[in-house]
Amino acid sequence: MRIGIIGAMDEEIALYMEAMEQTTKTVKAGITYYAGVMEGKEVVLCKSGVGKVNAAVTTQILIDTFQVERVIFTGVAGAVHPDLNIGDIVVSTDCIQHDIDVSPLGFAPGQIPFTEQWIWSADQDLIQQAIDAGKELDAGIQVVSGRILSGDQFVASREKVQWLHEQFQAHCTEMEGASVGQVCAMNGVPFVVVRSMSDKADGSAHVNFAEFTKLASERSYAIVRNMLKATSQDAGVIVYSTKNCVDCNLVKEWLKAKGISFEVRDVMTSRAYQEEVERFGFMGVPVTVVGDKAVKGYAPSELEELVGSK
Ligand code: SAH
Repeated sequence: MRIGIIGAMDEEIALYMEAMEQTTKTVKAGITYYAGVMEGKEVVLCKSGVGKVNAAVTTQILIDTFQVERVIFTGVAGAVHPDLNIGDIVVSTDCIQHDIDVSPLGFAPGQIPFTEQWIWSADQDLIQQAIDAGKELDAGIQVVSGRILSGDQFVASREKVQWLHEQFQAHCTEMEGASVGQVCAMNGVPFVVVRSMSDKADGSAHVNFAEFTKLASERSYAIVRNMLKATSQDAGVIVYSTKNCVDCNLVKEWLKAKGISFEVRDVMTSRAYQEEVERFGFMGVPVTVVGDKAVKGYAPSELEELVGSK
């Protein structure tokens, strides 16, 4: 499972850059993507730049070019909920673009006209993983889940922050998460946003932001690293296949009959998947993989041994 990790600023991705191994670099639309391995998981890291357009373009490229299957946004935000302190973590339950305003035409603030969809829900499993990872941190901070707002504005006023809280029942505000969420939803890719509070989006926000961004970025990183660590212990079964291949279907039926869940990677849809198969020294499909072990073809006794090693 390849995971896309996005930060908006250098500070937010710095620790990932240090932790990643076997990194290859690709530049597309002016954004640099680092594909590699972290905590045993395949990740693609990038700095989107600030704001919703940057984040949206970056997310679509992660999905199209790098075939990421999950997206995690990691970074800092301004606290909106009055109980939150600098350093605390908010894991997104959902995200809204607070600066979309077509209210003169009768739409609610934040509502995207002529569609029912404008609240972008994060993935339940990723939310849970982030909360669990937060519990392990033990840094004397609150780790909560809640609504995250995004807009092309650095919010630095008490009145505005109070309005955001009342209008949207939000926990924090930033400038990218909801556009990442929308692009992920449009592509059917699960996502979560993990933000640590760098400021309280009030009159002191610019000072606090400058002082606490590094610390807050470290907190967000620590959670995402724990999330990766936890998931890497559970190496899933991957079946590299094509749609109409008889042996591929036999492998899938065999796994289903055993009650073993698996991920299908259709090599016809992605050059990257073909390369993954070739890395195991095989040319054709099906190839069934668990961690670093692979079985070619439909070979029940070998498959038995492979899934037994899980
Ligand atoms: N790096 C630039 C611009 C930072 S903009 C600078 O230092 O001048 C703020 C960034 O942090 C955005 O990526 C946003 O997602 C997040 N952020 C933190 N606090 C915020 C706030 N109060 N309002 C909006 N975004 C905030």
